[in-house]
Amino acid sequence: MNAVKAYAAQSAEKPLGPFQIDRREPGSTDVEIKILYCGVCHSDIHTARNEWQGSMYPVVPGHEIVGKVTRVGDSVSKFKVGDTVGVGCFVDSCGHCNNCKNHKEQYCENGHTQTYNSYSQDKKTITYGGYSSHIVVTEGFVLHVSDKLPLEKVAPLLCAGITTYSPLKRWNVKAGDKVAVLGLGGLGHMAVKIAASMGAEVTVLSRSKSKAKDATELGATNFELTTDPENMKRLANSFDFIIDTVSALHDYNDYLSLLGTDGVMVLLGVPPEPSTVQAFSLIGNRRSVVGSLVGGIKETQEMLDYCAEHGITSDVEMINIDQVNEAYERTLAGDVHYRFVIDMASLV
Ligand code: NAP
Ligand code: ZN
Repeated sequence: MNAVKAYAAQSAEKPLGPFQIDRREPGSTDVEIKILYCGVCHSDIHTARNEWQGSMYPVVPGHEIVGKVTRVGDSVSKFKVGDTVGVGCFVDSCGHCNNCKNHKEQYCENGHTQTYNSYSQDKKTITYGGYSSHIVVTEGFVLHVSDKLPLEKVAPLLCAGITTYSPLKRWNVKAGDKVAVLGLGGLGHMAVKIAASMGAEVTVLSRSKSKAKDATELGATNFELTTDPENMKRLANSFDFIIDTVSALHDYNDYLSLLGTDGVMVLLGVPPEPSTVQAFSLIGNRRSVVGSLVGGIKETQEMLDYCAEHGITSDVEMINIDQVNEAYERTLAGDVHYRFVIDMASLV
């Protein structure tokens, strides 16, 4: 065991603060990583504050990790000391179920291990995430990261990037498709960039007028205010896809009505409270509502390579670790442009 510095939430009500955790000594297939940057995902906030229930304190959040390999186990073949690497939302899975064999580890039938607030495959040890100086991960769940792109802007790709790339691929979004991105935050801004790079005509649906200019700069063709009922009426039946990234309770029916025939609404945001879908919202225009959870490891590598090739990174605001509580408040207020990323050098 190695004691390493971290930042943790000790309860749902308390702000995050300094904490020390133990990382395992790298085993034969393990890679030890010194963390350089870690993105702040809204899931970190939901979990730190126990909004989804089931938080196991202390919680050390963080699943948008980029760093350098410091040690490798004897059997590690894909990585060496000094490599630049990434770790995303999960760090292990059973490896032998149907989904694991088909590169869908996030849907492991025996339960995948998330990067934090989750049980390791021993079903005993609780995982701690990237708000820490080092992490130890089995090599099959470590990603190669190109040194060509600024690493702090790559970190958010490990969650926000893959979570939006995966459904865009799965539902075969292509040139000319009309894609609406609902909510322009961390996931939303990546959805805009990636969908636009695939040739889609992207519309941002947002309640924040102040984001209109950014939406265009990020690659959207249109920006529409969701708070304006006239706008919403005018947009009825107009999209092929809606990528819903909203983190708080909202009425799905309002947005389903914007889909044309065979339109698909992909739920990515996970509001803590349930919301009702009316059958009428689906049967008209034969619409679907679907969900998607991050993406498998192979697909995450594909996404990182795709982003490196297309020069796609996240728009980030760098913070020191002691600003993370303030960053949470600003994220909740929608004041994020468009991902906070922690410079882990500030964890001293
Ligand atoms: P974020 O940066 O806070 O962005 C969420 C955006 O949703 C906000 O910027 C805002 O955009 C909009 N929004 C927030 N509250 C709203 C409200 N009350 N009504 C209407 N719009 C609201 O969050 P994120 O990191 O992108 O994460 C978004 C959600 O996805 C979270 O629930 C997170 O847990 C979830 N998530 C899911 C997966 C997955 O695998 N499915 C992976 C990662 C995260 P506007 O200001 O433009 O309206
Ligand atoms: Zn995330």
